[in-house]
Amino acid sequence: MPELPDLTVVADALHAALSGRSIASAEAPGPLAVRGTPAELAALVGQRVMDIRRRGKFLLIDLDRDRIACNPMLTGRFQLASPGDKLPAKTAVVFGFGPRTAKPRDAARWTRGAAWLPADDAEPEVRYRDPTQMGKIYLVPAGMDRPVPGLGGVDQGPDADDPSLTLEVWRERIRKHPGELKNLLRNQAFVAGIGNAYSDEILHDARLLPFRKRSSLAAEEVDALYAATRSTLTDAIDILRERVPPTFEKQVRDFLAVHDKGGQPCPRCGTKITEVRAGGFITSYCRGCQH
Ligand SMILES: [Zn+2]
Repeated sequence: MPELPDLTVVADALHAALSGRSIASAEAPGPLAVRGTPAELAALVGQRVMDIRRRGKFLLIDLDRDRIACNPMLTGRFQLASPGDKLPAKTAVVFGFGPRTAKPRDAARWTRGAAWLPADDAEPEVRYRDPTQMGKIYLVPAGMDRPVPGLGGVDQGPDADDPSLTLEVWRERIRKHPGELKNLLRNQAFVAGIGNAYSDEILHDARLLPFRKRSSLAAEEVDALYAATRSTLTDAIDILRERVPPTFEKQVRDFLAVHDKGGQPCPRCGTKITEVRAGGFITSYCRGCQH
């Protein structure tokens, strides 16, 4: 499942590649992925990309009039391609873009001069594909209040890497959540963007067990969890910037310390990593150094 680090890198890259271009074509070979009418999809053509960004586990495309909100769920992926490139299986939506007609605004520094950036006169495509077809692309025409479940409102807390989520705000927010730490980190209403993989990584970094209750934490453990959340996500983004381009549909996870590494030695203490499967999700942790 794409989480905050994965989607941050994709959003930065797509913004650098596509902002300042207009949508030249919008097709939905897998129409079930689209929440919106064929007329709304067709009406995207001609609109210019102003901003592409991540919010929680959503990728948001702000056009000069309408908005597109993408929730890739478990297996949705974005591919930056040229029109001649082979269309991957299970492609649900294809957006074609015209030449760049305006300078991109505030492209992320790490994308500058990247070899994978399409030339200004190129006509790139973004393909969204989703083998399990669980993800959704919401079309939100200007002036229409189409609900996007999980985006905004009380269901979505601040992004886990939001600068306004200070340690003081974290301490305040966490009080409302007495339950198990892994569930707490994955609860998008607490903080947004963390899923199954990075919750394991953060807890390993903080030396806390995933099934421990928040209500049992000492004050310094609450603070350690905050520090681990920030550093784990920041470090992952740094690695993914190097490892992911130019194949943005690839999910790179091999550098993680514990998640999905059951039976392998813990990189910190050497104890064999424990793996628990529950509800279709893997939880991985170290009994040697997490308490
Ligand atoms: Zn360990």
